Amino acid sequence: MSGRHDVVIVGGGHNGLTTAAYLARAGRMVLVLEKKSFVGGAAVTEEFFPGFYASSIADESNTLSPKVVTDLNLKQFGFHVLPVDPLVFAPGKDGRHLTIWHDVRRTGREISRYSRADARSYPEFIRKMGKMGKIVSALNHMILPDLPDAGFKDLPEAFKLLKPLHSLRWKNVTQVMRNVPMPVADIISEWFEAENVKAAIAASALNHISLGPQESGTGYTFLQNFAHSNNGLFRAGGHVKGGAGAVTAALADATRKAGAQIQTNANVSQIIVKNGRATGIVLADGKTIFANQVVSAVDMRTTYLELVKSGIMEKTVSTHVHNITFGGTMARVHYALDGLPEFNGMSGHSQAVLKGHIQLAPSLNYLQKAFDPTKYGQFPEQPYIDIRIPTLNDPSLAPEGRHVLSATVKYIPFHQQAGDWETMRDALGELATRTISEWAPGFNQCVQHSHIITPLDMEADYHLPEGSLTHGDITLDQSLWMRPLPGYTRYQSSLKGLYHCSAATHPGAGITGINGMNAARRILRG
Ligand SMILES: Cc1cc2nc3c(=O)[nH]c(=O)nc-3n(C[C@H](O)[C@H](O)[C@H](O)COP(=O)(O)OP(=O)(O)OC[C@H]3O[C@@H](n4cnc5c(N)ncnc54)[C@H](O)[C@@H]3O)c2cc1C
Repeated sequence: MSGRHDVVIVGGGHNGLTTAAYLARAGRMVLVLEKKSFVGGAAVTEEFFPGFYASSIADESNTLSPKVVTDLNLKQFGFHVLPVDPLVFAPGKDGRHLTIWHDVRRTGREISRYSRADARSYPEFIRKMGKMGKIVSALNHMILPDLPDAGFKDLPEAFKLLKPLHSLRWKNVTQVMRNVPMPVADIISEWFEAENVKAAIAASALNHISLGPQESGTGYTFLQNFAHSNNGLFRAGGHVKGGAGAVTAALADATRKAGAQIQTNANVSQIIVKNGRATGIVLADGKTIFANQVVSAVDMRTTYLELVKSGIMEKTVSTHVHNITFGGTMARVHYALDGLPEFNGMSGHSQAVLKGHIQLAPSLNYLQKAFDPTKYGQFPEQPYIDIRIPTLNDPSLAPEGRHVLSATVKYIPFHQQAGDWETMRDALGELATRTISEWAPGFNQCVQHSHIITPLDMEADYHLPEGSLTHGDITLDQSLWMRPLPGYTRYQSSLKGLYHCSAATHPGAGITGINGMNAARRILRG
């Protein structure tokens, strides 16, 4: 790996790999440097108990941009999505459950058990929001201009908006502008009346943000879910065979096949800057690697407060980086089970309804109350839990007849007041198990082993600052033209030769590969 490279990429998460693959396919000599002994970042599948495998951090949902899948021929490298229906199973503690299917009419029939008016609203709601999601998707695929420095050179990117804007009709554009800053609770309440219906649809808008449903800006993450879902609905379905790690394994193979080198156990300790230009990197073992361009596939805090020596950046940049809010409020608990949980009211229902996302969130108020204590650094009494049982779709992830249940637990603040994380770890595990047992009595008796990943573990073991799944919260003040920093929207630093491609950049988090693809386009454009 010594010598000179066209491009050195710091970080082998899915975005770093995506950028590498595009650049290598365009003929650049690319080297990816990953600190850990394996690539993937937050998109990894790991054995957490002998014979049991889980998508440790990000779930295995099918959010990768179809363009990335096609451009990089990922199917040829083992990327395979198993279709999963239903999308969401939302059980109630009282046994009243709601199932959201991919088929809108079938879901309408489910919803009519709770409200006929809601059942009538649902198809129109999906149609309208889906169109708005297409506008957000077009924005996601754009290299946005740095404001106020916009000009003719940005016009080709802006053309991407024409088709979705035309399909929504110009007069409805104001609806997008209105929905983006709204609280998701308000959007949903304009369409639906039944509490369980509202929560079942709104909950996933909160998965990639630290805020509750009544907070401004959750409308944007809700629309982002439509943009990323690939199915016209409000969250992604499907299961990537092998879990999240299979996505990054396919990307790594595609990257190598395109001619790039990937070096693991390569901890970058410095980005070399000479005369205002990034010229290479230094590894923790002292080795220096020079390159014409350096791409940071890690977060902004690591890039500018650790890797670029202090004093090099203008004061305004350092201030912006210091001011990024990360908003880590999520924990993961993986369970090795020797049987399947039976949720209240499920008897007589096939366990097939458990194949998609299982959302423990019976009402918008429940979700908001789960969020409120995070403002004071406390655990909620009743967390919002999003569950997947990947072994129902992919039995290879556990020994025969056994199951993996992965719980994403919200809201668990990184900065918590009650004590240190070592003492709070067990409390977190107990909270998750107790909550799931309230919906699925007897759940704890199926548990063979549990593996708890706290927000602190996410920082320490997966390099996610403050346990942030997004490399910086997707609040409106940190989105679009403000992402990753004002003036850096074009994936380029104010230092010449330094670029960014991680989830810190537009359009933010999710295993989408869009950030990596956009950054590669920007670099190739010169
Ligand atoms: C709890 C949780 C749940 C999530 N759930 C989902 C989900 O269900 N669906 C979804 O689509 N997204 C989900 N996400 C978001 C998604 O995982 C991330 O947005 C995405 O993986 C970020 O990818 P990345 O390549 O930009 O960065 P990362 O995956 O963070 O990769 C950065 C890489 O850089 C490496 N690195 C760091 N410092 C250095 C250094 N000095 N030298 C060399 N290498 C370094 C790291 O080890 C890492 O491999 C979730 C995230 C979390 C935390």
